[in-house]
Amino acid sequence: MAFGPVEKVVKQAFKEPFTLEFPEHKEELTDNYRGIHKLDMRTCINCAACARICPNQTIVMVEGEADTAFKPAGTKLFPEINLERCLFCALCEEVCPTDCLVLSKSTDFEVYDRRDLIKRPEELK
Ligand code: SF4
Ligand code: SF4
Repeated sequence: MAFGPVEKVVKQAFKEPFTLEFPEHKEELTDNYRGIHKLDMRTCINCAACARICPNQTIVMVEGEADTAFKPAGTKLFPEINLERCLFCALCEEVCPTDCLVLSKSTDFEVYDRRDLIKRPEELK
């Protein structure tokens, strides 16, 4: 009985680690995985429907430079996304009338400073 805990510790010491070395080894994602948003600023019509429907106030509309190749030059409001608040529910994607905002499969948004989880429209390409 007294050897129980010691035996457990010894067993654990010889087990393979459960965790993966990140970022060298990344976990395989399921087909329905939802990752960081992608925004096509050329086709965004600045309607703010994504910000209104978001259940967690994750999206705020901020000034961004419209792509002059497709739109008149000038500043308009585009979604800025705080990934710290995001539930990855995809309601913003569903409501977007031009399909310019989609959730990708990318997991590449690890940061050292949580303030860097706030993504400006230009960063969501
Ligand atoms: S995925 Fe959901 S929580 Fe995240 S920004 Fe879109 S609507 Fe908001
Ligand atoms: S991303 Fe879509 S829903 Fe959001 S402002 Fe642009 S067009 Fe509207």
